[in-house]
Amino acid sequence: MSRILPIITNPNPILRKKSEEIEKEKLSNKKLQELCLDMTKTMKEKDGLGLAAPQIGENIRLIVINTQDGPICLLNPRITKKSWSKENGEEGCLSVPSIFGEVRRHKKIDCLYLNTKGKKIKMQANGLLARVIQHEIDHLDGILFIDKAKNVKKIDEL
Ligand SMILES: [Zn+2]
Repeated sequence: MSRILPIITNPNPILRKKSEEIEKEKLSNKKLQELCLDMTKTMKEKDGLGLAAPQIGENIRLIVINTQDGPICLLNPRITKKSWSKENGEEGCLSVPSIFGEVRRHKKIDCLYLNTKGKKIKMQANGLLARVIQHEIDHLDGILFIDKAKNVKKIDEL
């Protein structure tokens, strides 16, 4: 059974560390497979569009994102191509509760990652999906959206 994991919030030094690549030999590791499932469940439960491993306390290069075709788990994701054009969009983050702001991101990206079976996958994304992937990969490099955001607003919790 997968579990809902506690989410680490800002300021916590874990969120600021650069995460490590996952070694090939560890891909079939049962713990890693479980972590993907737990992170997916946590993302859904918290209504997130994506979740990066540092947000649940693991400094490894692993993210989960919600796509139209369902959630996917990306290991060692890397952006290989970025569109010249950018656009602004509002973002929030489960690790920075109640804060929202406008972030300028590339409209279209190509992303290369390994799936949980160790297969290399190339994915093209645009719009919101491209934004979510850029946001989550930033987490792996210790970057939070508030570092880049403009017009930052705090919404009082109900
Ligand atoms: Zn985030």
